[in-house]
Amino acid sequence: MPGKRQDYIGWDELFIAMAAEAAWRSKDPRTQNGACIVSADHTEIAIGYNGFPKLKNKDNDEVFPWIGEGEEAMTERYKFVVHAERNCLDNAKFDLDGSTLYLFSERGYYPCETCAQGILSKGVSAVVMGFAAEGDNLGGSARYGNQAFAATLKMFEAAEIKVRILGPDMARYCYGLASRFLKVAAAVEALHGAANEKC
Ligand SMILES: [Zn+2]
Repeated sequence: MPGKRQDYIGWDELFIAMAAEAAWRSKDPRTQNGACIVSADHTEIAIGYNGFPKLKNKDNDEVFPWIGEGEEAMTERYKFVVHAERNCLDNAKFDLDGSTLYLFSERGYYPCETCAQGILSKGVSAVVMGFAAEGDNLGGSARYGNQAFAATLKMFEAAEIKVRILGPDMARYCYGLASRFLKVAAAVEALHGAANEKC
C-alpha cells in the first residue's frame, strides 16, 4: 500500500518490550523478571513482575525481606516472592485460552514448574522469552541446562505449548528503547527548562 511505514515494529517487539518495562518495576535487588500476556487476537493485555504478595493495608516491601546476596537470605526471600508469570496470569481479567505469554528475564530463567502449571491450566498457547544476560551473568536454563527445567518443558510439550526464545537483538532492542525514553525525557526536560526561563 502506498504510504505505509516500512519500519513499524512487530508483535514480538511490542510485547517483549512491555514485559521488559514490567521487569523494571520489580524491587528485587537481584532479579528482574517481567511478563506480559496477550489475548489470541492481540487486543487484551496484562502484565506482571516478580514481587511480594499483595497486601490490602500494608506496604508489602516493609513486611517481607528484600535482602541481598547469600544462600540463607535467598532461601528466605524465595518463600514469599511471587513470580512475574504468576502475577501476570492473576492480573489478566480476560479469557487466556489461546493467549501468548511473553517473559523478559534479565538472567535467563524459564518459567518454573509452578508457573508452568498455571500457564497450562489457563490454556495459554505460546510462551515467548527474551533474555538480557550474557556470559557469566546468565542464570536459569541457559546456564544450568534444560534438565533444571525438565518438568516445565515436559508440561509445555504435553500441552503443545509453543516455546520461542528471542535472540539477543531483542534484549538489545528493549534496552535501546529504555535509553531512547531517557533521551526523550532529558530532551523534554531541557525544552521545558528553556521555556520556563523564557517566561
Ligand atoms: Zn515461577
